[in-house]
Amino acid sequence: MKGKFKNGITGSMASIATLGLLIAAPLQAADGPTAQDLVNDAGSTGDVLTYGMGPQAQRFSPLAKVNADNVKSMVPAFAASLGGEKQRGQESQPLVYDGTIYVTGSYSRLYAFDSHTGEKKWEYDARLPDGIMPCCDVVNRGAAIMGDKVLFATLDAHLVALNRHTGKVVWNKAIADYQAGYSATAAPLIVRNMVITGNSGGEFGAVGAIQARNVDTGELIWERPVIEGHMGMLNGKPNGITGKTNASWQGDLWKTGGGATWLGGTYDPDTNLIFFGTGNPAPWNSHLRPGDNLYTASTLALDPDTGVIKWHYQTTPHDGWDFDGVNEFIPFDATMAGKPMKLGAKADRNGYFYVIDRTNGHLMGASKFVMETTWANGINLKTGRPNFVDANRPGPPNGSEKGTSVFSSPSFLGGKNWMPMAYSKDTGLFYVPSNDWGMDIWNEPIAYKKGAAYLGAGFTIRPVAPDHIGALRAMDPKTGKIVWEYKNKAPLWGGVLTTAGNLVFTGTPEGYLKAFDAKTGTELWKFNTGSGVVGSPITWEQDGEQYVAVMSGWGGAVPLWGGEVAKTFKDISQGGALWVFKLPKS
Ligand code: CA
Ligand code: CA
Repeated sequence: MKGKFKNGITGSMASIATLGLLIAAPLQAADGPTAQDLVNDAGSTGDVLTYGMGPQAQRFSPLAKVNADNVKSMVPAFAASLGGEKQRGQESQPLVYDGTIYVTGSYSRLYAFDSHTGEKKWEYDARLPDGIMPCCDVVNRGAAIMGDKVLFATLDAHLVALNRHTGKVVWNKAIADYQAGYSATAAPLIVRNMVITGNSGGEFGAVGAIQARNVDTGELIWERPVIEGHMGMLNGKPNGITGKTNASWQGDLWKTGGGATWLGGTYDPDTNLIFFGTGNPAPWNSHLRPGDNLYTASTLALDPDTGVIKWHYQTTPHDGWDFDGVNEFIPFDATMAGKPMKLGAKADRNGYFYVIDRTNGHLMGASKFVMETTWANGINLKTGRPNFVDANRPGPPNGSEKGTSVFSSPSFLGGKNWMPMAYSKDTGLFYVPSNDWGMDIWNEPIAYKKGAAYLGAGFTIRPVAPDHIGALRAMDPKTGKIVWEYKNKAPLWGGVLTTAGNLVFTGTPEGYLKAFDAKTGTELWKFNTGSGVVGSPITWEQDGEQYVAVMSGWGGAVPLWGGEVAKTFKDISQGGALWVFKLPKS
């Protein structure tokens, strides 16, 4: 009850109902991070309160105690195992608050560890029903925190709020029907009193949507489906159709049109916009759905209070390669052609790095960040559309026979997949975890059936370079040029962190957490965690020392596909542990 009357209301004249309303906010504020704390997260070095280390998700820390000169001395402080028999991909980013590290694990688990010792405080295991349909491993990417709650999404398409002290369930709401192929793996985004989430299921014809719910109760505030024709909701009432029905979809195809918003979103307090990416149109076979198929494979800017779409930019109109456009859109400010601008950047699954005016969605620049893009010869800066190479779109099926197979690069796993890039305010560079690989892809006949895969395509993935698949690339958003690159034999599948210590951190499937010089790309430090690193590293300050943490545990979508690519990671063991590092005490 701490802080009950902090605002000075003793109010004998106030009705009980009014008093209840008035004291609700201070109660929450007294016990845990406030909405304003979340907005300020990027600058507060003593905690990590948001997925992305700030609502803009730049993943930049102003800390420099660990830096390019001394990182070579960094050693483990402790490690904490997730335990259990189920060890799959650990793609989570930890949060740190008030002596506790909150981290999610595979199979929809959430853990609270002591941030000084790694001792487990509590663990929550979602009881998942039989019949969940995660397309690409049973991962989870992280939690959200506000007040006395820690929240995360589960594989059965639920959103769960737990008491952050005890791990006990406060509320648990279904955001969609898992039996229709919906699931959820992204870290929720909190804006003001709303917890905002997307959904997964684009391989099952699930329709992408974004929902905002009340953090305290889980009640739905608004919902915005991202496929043209579907009705949005606000406070229990219809709030307008998305786009214009049948403008870019024929017949009833929009009803199962895909566009899963499976990677969550970012929030820009500066423009008061939230940005969500949308996945592939369904089915994959593009010949079955003529048109641009809005708003699939796009970035959407929405009003966080109503869910109304303010602008959209479609990276892959009429996608035919599973180029989900979910990749994070990171707001940043820079001077372009002598003019200070509010921008945003996105390294898309289709292999292009886009710089966009985040106030209106206008394209400012687009450049390749992978070795090759067979599907398009560049992006037309006037129209914002790709210059498609028509011959490299897989052909239509011939009756019941599969259509002409083509070679496509990037592969469907993308020039960049889910793993978040980072932006350094110091160097002005984006650090993009990318992959060079291609695929043979062909189309097949398909019809929609609830709860069944809805692809109408087949594929074989393969490397395109003899020495690497993964490549961490430093991109200059002003020029579109690659400033440096680090090549990795196995595909890169982990997030990136950059710091004022002139450092860039990322993990490798081979098990290493690595640190690079942010300006030059020189490798400065590495540590083998015993299993592949596909999580996102963080850093914070505690007792005057700088700590770095990352999840270890090989998995994710990559090992689900075989072929030549699998040779690069066949000897990597699974695992599930939180690793924490710092400099030795001098
Ligand atoms: Ca912080
Ligand atoms: Ca997809």
